[in-house]
Amino acid sequence: MPGSTVGEPNTSSALALLPLPDFNALTQQQAEGHACVWDGIPLTTENAVDLGARTVDGVQRFPRACPRCVGERARAALFEHCFECDPCSQTVPGHACDTGTALMRLSIRQGR
Ligand SMILES: [Zn+2]
Ligand SMILES: [Zn+2]
Repeated sequence: MPGSTVGEPNTSSALALLPLPDFNALTQQQAEGHACVWDGIPLTTENAVDLGARTVDGVQRFPRACPRCVGERARAALFEHCFECDPCSQTVPGHACDTGTALMRLSIRQGR
């Protein structure tokens, strides 16, 4: 899949781990996936990262974000994960468990 950076099972499950902002505080553009949920920049089909379907207050949402924010959030999530996860805290993060590996990949792929 040329140009595709998401879509592997591992990566999309890691995307589901990233905490999202409160949907009630988002603009309509953000809530509908036309703008990054974190910094609000307009998204195109080329730069948008699909964060997966989320159900918020009984409404299904399809939030999206820009690659830069996804990279940042993935690094933050990985950092936090390493505190909570025994294997990851004792060895090189990103190799010890599936979650750590997925978050590591996500932060490397998107963080450019
Ligand atoms: Zn962003
Ligand atoms: Zn872990």
